[in-house]
Amino acid sequence: MFELTAAPFDDTALRARLDRPDAGALVVFEGRVRDHHLGRPVTQLEYEAFDELALAEGAAIVTESERLYPGARVLCVHRTGTLRIGEVAVWIGVTSPHRQAGFAACRHVIEELKRRLPIWKKEHHPDGAAEWVNCTTEAKPASASAEYHARQIALPEVGAQGQAKLAAARVLVVGVGGLGCPAALYLAGAGVGRLTLVDSGKVELSNLHRQILFTAAEVGAPKVLAAAARLRAHNPAVEITAHETEFTARNARAFVAGHDVVLDGTDNFATRFLVHDACLALGVPLVSAAVHRFEGTLDVFRRGEGGCLHCQWPGRSVAELDTAGNCAGAPVFGPAVGVLGVMQAAEALKLLLGREGDAPRQTHLVNLLDGSMLAVARAARPDCPVCARLDQLKTSNPVAASDTSPFLDRAGAAALGSKARTVYLTEPGEAAPSGATAVPALDLSRLRELAAAGPLVLTCRYGVRSAALARLFRTEGADQVFALTKS
Ligand SMILES: [Zn+2]
Repeated sequence: MFELTAAPFDDTALRARLDRPDAGALVVFEGRVRDHHLGRPVTQLEYEAFDELALAEGAAIVTESERLYPGARVLCVHRTGTLRIGEVAVWIGVTSPHRQAGFAACRHVIEELKRRLPIWKKEHHPDGAAEWVNCTTEAKPASASAEYHARQIALPEVGAQGQAKLAAARVLVVGVGGLGCPAALYLAGAGVGRLTLVDSGKVELSNLHRQILFTAAEVGAPKVLAAAARLRAHNPAVEITAHETEFTARNARAFVAGHDVVLDGTDNFATRFLVHDACLALGVPLVSAAVHRFEGTLDVFRRGEGGCLHCQWPGRSVAELDTAGNCAGAPVFGPAVGVLGVMQAAEALKLLLGREGDAPRQTHLVNLLDGSMLAVARAARPDCPVCARLDQLKTSNPVAASDTSPFLDRAGAAALGSKARTVYLTEPGEAAPSGATAVPALDLSRLRELAAAGPLVLTCRYGVRSAALARLFRTEGADQVFALTKS
């Protein structure tokens, strides 16, 4: 619960509100007004909040902490108005079954309040001067300064220009597990401007030997929330967006779009292929890694260079591969995923800095049991169905796609005039209805030619294929492709 109050706190009353017989711990934090700030003496403070905004954001922070530390109950009250030296400005009480979660939740709440709560304070000085200080701006860290990254900027391969590129970059990390944790930590440390995390999992005790962003107090918490909090604490200058959801065929392209580099840290082939195919289609470089026991592989996939993931696993279905090589639940040496995750971060940073060298045409093999490392050239297989059809995979950004509806009824189709063509999409082995112009649904080249020539209305047996292809062509900028509705 989050509240604002103009009255001084009644500590006993606040503690009484947190009485819980099942709680083994009560952690209380008091933020007090001190008599100096940034080297200047202070005589009193005035706090002013936009109540509605502050209440909404405060409540969001409290809810997030309770989700992050299961079992914790948080009461947080912030003062407004004029406060004297020594008075309590913010009171946070957390009850929890165990002390660890209590301490962790309390710390999370105060850090997030400093960073996010829209509240201003006016400092009064002994000479009569007074000035407003935005608390959230004040909490913006020294890390935004050059000093945080000084030792990295000193590298001639980075420099101030390279650092600016990193600060402007957007990186997507799919899977915040053994690979994603160290990778994200090093990307945040390096000052990558925006990190997007996607994972639907919760922290488990058996994760902790390798998933270094999490603590024992966070078991049961959504991974992306725990990771985001840890990364923000590590480098508050980095903007972290956390999506507690599965990466699926439905959202793959939307997630990949708008990012400069993608890191795949998932542990199953089904998702690896999804991430890979979305990156290939949108032309976004992908840094992929996989670990089995003591050894791992690292690949940088970039469209048109050195073969793709399908080249590596020819003629095997994803279901087959997942039965044989799904890493979820398998035994794993913690440092192996650590090393591979850090290597992923290194390759991502090199791509952002334009220093990737031969990496997009190589597979790196690392074995921590015998200490060997090997880089082998990765070439496209001549029989790879994906690499052979790269020209048909148009680079497109679904976010920028036309938002007008692709659906038309017969009257709408007729209104397009005589220049419009109507095409019936056939499945393999299907005969088109008589009188219709038929094109196989899989013949994308022919359909693209037709789409480029003028308005194109697609129809098919069930209306599913025509709708999917109309949407696909629209993501490629063909605004005059429609799917005929059955009605
Ligand atoms: Zn290929």
